[in-house]
Amino acid sequence: MSFLSVNIFLHTNLLFTRSFMIMLLSFIAIQLNLCFSNIPSSLTTINVNGHFSFTNNEFAAKDYGNQYHFLPLAVLHPKSVSDIAKTVRHVWELGPSSELTVAARGHGHSIQGQAQAHHGIVINMESLKSPKMHFHLGDGLPFVDVSGGELWINILHESLKYGLTPKSWTDYLHLSVGGTLSNAGISGQAFRHGPQISNVHQLEVVTGKGEVVTCSEQQNADLFSGVLGGLGQYGIITRARISLEPASQMVKWIRVVYSDFSTFTRDQEHLISSENTFDYIEGIVLVNRTGVLNNWRSSFNPKYDEQASRFRSEGRTLFCLELAKYFNPDNIVEINEEIESLLSELKYIPSTLFMTEVTYVEFLDRVHTAEIKLQEKGLWDVPHPWLNLLVPRSKIHKFADEVFGNILVDTSNGPVLVYPVNKSKWSNMTSAVLPEEDIFYLVAFLSQANPLSTGKDGLEHILSLNKRILDFCEEAQLGVKQYLAHYATQDEWRAHFGQRWETFQRRKMAYDPLAILAPGHRIFQKGVITTILERRKRPSNQSVVVD
Ligand code: FAD
Repeated sequence: MSFLSVNIFLHTNLLFTRSFMIMLLSFIAIQLNLCFSNIPSSLTTINVNGHFSFTNNEFAAKDYGNQYHFLPLAVLHPKSVSDIAKTVRHVWELGPSSELTVAARGHGHSIQGQAQAHHGIVINMESLKSPKMHFHLGDGLPFVDVSGGELWINILHESLKYGLTPKSWTDYLHLSVGGTLSNAGISGQAFRHGPQISNVHQLEVVTGKGEVVTCSEQQNADLFSGVLGGLGQYGIITRARISLEPASQMVKWIRVVYSDFSTFTRDQEHLISSENTFDYIEGIVLVNRTGVLNNWRSSFNPKYDEQASRFRSEGRTLFCLELAKYFNPDNIVEINEEIESLLSELKYIPSTLFMTEVTYVEFLDRVHTAEIKLQEKGLWDVPHPWLNLLVPRSKIHKFADEVFGNILVDTSNGPVLVYPVNKSKWSNMTSAVLPEEDIFYLVAFLSQANPLSTGKDGLEHILSLNKRILDFCEEAQLGVKQYLAHYATQDEWRAHFGQRWETFQRRKMAYDPLAILAPGHRIFQKGVITTILERRKRPSNQSVVVD
């Protein structure tokens, strides 16, 4: 063969191989495309009042944590409960061989992808506007029925039109009812009223089989308890009945500082155990925060101006007790006397007493004020590697010695909250996982990371600090539980739930036997749970317990 013919042969061969490869790849691509497009096209057969979107769904692959980004195949924008029920039922009917999962997305303020569904369906709960907020003011205690996708800030504004308010809050109100009730909803009112899950009378839920079930302590009680703090595993909350109380117009908002952790926690525990006390009690840890008192001056007034300006932290770790007392202008004299008397029982550093007076809405919506400022600086949509822990009272000092005294060298990456709550205000029937003691502390490391940094304010460094804290808790066997927990394996979840795992798993099999719901927590995997089910030979039509 001449050089030319060899060349032509090789070239033809090459051309043929290339064309064949292109054809093959196109074929695979078409097949893959068909595979993925099959599922959305089957969704288009569902007759919904709202609509599905199959493109521009990037928002559903984002959350406040800004670390996990799983794109769904489709997003449902429901207009009615039946839109949600039909969609879940459709997935249920596809059976275990379909990998399709469904995640309810409230306001997407999770930290680690909990409201995302990789190649699944995300339900954008904020578009569910039904039922319209409905207030019940007649005989008995007032309450309001709201959609599961409603934001707490809207409930606050509407309730105030009736002179009423929910009792228990989160620090930030631009969160959805379904999102916080799936966790707990803890803030400075929880010591008295319990978390938000202790202030719900009734729920309407779409289970993992697409059934719409009304539940309460009296009706379908197992589902009711399971859904509260249930991480969205048993059903999608479409309506909640929230307990209300008369609202005050104004708030006295107070900060005082301690340098001794024992004195700080003794005062906190004294206040949460007293009958006559403040309406809100929290605490903030300040490690290496020189000049922090001066920063407060933009919103708070020092009681003793001169002494406050002379106060120096001198590198000490400080503990700020944050308090609030609600009042109406016509009882200001009594309230001032009451506050003075309550403060006189406390052992804070006298020169550090700061106080201000704001409206009830300004107080409750305080984090949103900070949000607007951070948004303006482009600092809101950064990674938030948060860590929230529930620490038993008897171990809080050991925890503080190591974590605030050794692991944390400063608290410049974001606030660190620490405050006690009374377990007696929590039902032990819900899915929330708590430490074994009557009083436990919420310790929240609310860090934000600089996405461009590889230093102390970078994501990797903050995640490694979180890990050190968790490792210490584990090694020292402190009996700490994670709040807004996140684990990679089922074994870790099993350890998290401890003795409650059996109940948690039983409920999953009863209400979402195919593990369709809330895949972002990575507790159950679709298919795997079905195997367990089949092994137990439990007929699926017996598995949902509906009274
Ligand atoms: P999403 O992130 O959308 O969803 C959270 C989980 O709930 C997901 O698993 C999702 O699938 C599920 N879910 C959502 N809607 C429903 C529904 N209708 N039915 C069933 N499951 C559903 N928490 C506190 O307890 N106290 C605080 O003080 C507090 N402060 C916060 C401040 C900020 C700035 C942020 C970002 C969060 C705060 N959180 C606090 C945490 C917050 O409560 C949770 O992250 C909550 O899940 C966020 O609500 P969301 O509506 O954005 O939920």
